[in-house]
Amino acid sequence: MTPDAEFGYELLVCRYAELAWHPSDGPRPAVVARQLGTKERRWDTVVIEVDPAAFAVRRAFGERAIDSDLLHVVRHAPAEWSWYRDALPHPGYPWRYVRQAVHRAAGRDLIEKRRRNNRIQLRRKRPYPDWVERIVAVENKPDLDRSAADRLAEQLTHDVDTALADEAWLATETTGERVEPALLREMPIEAGILATDFSEGVHPDAADVAWHPSDLSGGAGATDEPEGGDDPSERTGSRDPETETLRLEIAERAYGKGWRSYHETMRPDCRHFELRREGRSLVPRCAAKEKVPTARECSGSCPDFSPEPPQWRTKGWPIEGGPGKGFKRVLARRREREHETADAFE
Ligand code: SF4
Repeated sequence: MTPDAEFGYELLVCRYAELAWHPSDGPRPAVVARQLGTKERRWDTVVIEVDPAAFAVRRAFGERAIDSDLLHVVRHAPAEWSWYRDALPHPGYPWRYVRQAVHRAAGRDLIEKRRRNNRIQLRRKRPYPDWVERIVAVENKPDLDRSAADRLAEQLTHDVDTALADEAWLATETTGERVEPALLREMPIEAGILATDFSEGVHPDAADVAWHPSDLSGGAGATDEPEGGDDPSERTGSRDPETETLRLEIAERAYGKGWRSYHETMRPDCRHFELRREGRSLVPRCAAKEKVPTARECSGSCPDFSPEPPQWRTKGWPIEGGPGKGFKRVLARRREREHETADAFE
């Protein structure tokens, strides 16, 4: 399958996850993002399962991600005014970077700061909540062939070993056919398999669980010796603080980025750019190329790029710009609505 089809598939899987997470255990509030991870491993789709009440508190910190330097400040900011070096744990890097992060955090209204006797003091506005319940990684492979299966098996084995995620899945398209059992047998047994059929678009019943995943939370990042021997489904244990911080950074990036951010790199201001409905999902489409364009194709260097004509901006698109801006607003509104759904859950 071509990369553009894979990109389109990835968007459909993201939308499915938003509508129907969790595929086997029933509804769970979640935030969905795409193309996130660490230096070593980038996941196609990331599902962050959230605690609804804590997530509502997280939303009070704003819609942007809180990066790792800011997290150090925000998580440890004290309830009472205090010199930042007394209040915060040593970061493991020079304090001047922390000072910069304190200024940035105050500039974003995440904490309060003041100067006393030539010292910077800070205090929190509200405690940073424990909003992340579980992190789930999904690899999307619409067309599972031999070489894709080999690559995926390797990637999923990495996920199982690092236990950065709590659960790993492979999503693959069946369109009514059975998935090739021989290829699926090569996947690590801990990874779940989601057999999707998006031929009728995206809806909550568009996927079946072909294999149930195991809980990975007691893998390599765990502090305790895993109990239950080699069977990860029987392991127990919690992760070390470093792994937990890394997970929180991933969750923050997922929250800030979501999965509709492709409009930030694509060209919705091109006259050929369209959002096409696939069931309950909107997927970008290029009318000139007659397909879902990849983010790389749909860029300023695209030879077919053609700016939307200025008169579009006066025909039903007054003041706030043409359809390009309209697409961006539609996608931003959808993202906002999904965040509201997650914290209004229960
Ligand atoms: S013509 Fe190029 S820039 Fe325009 S929508 Fe198609 S891929 Fe994107």
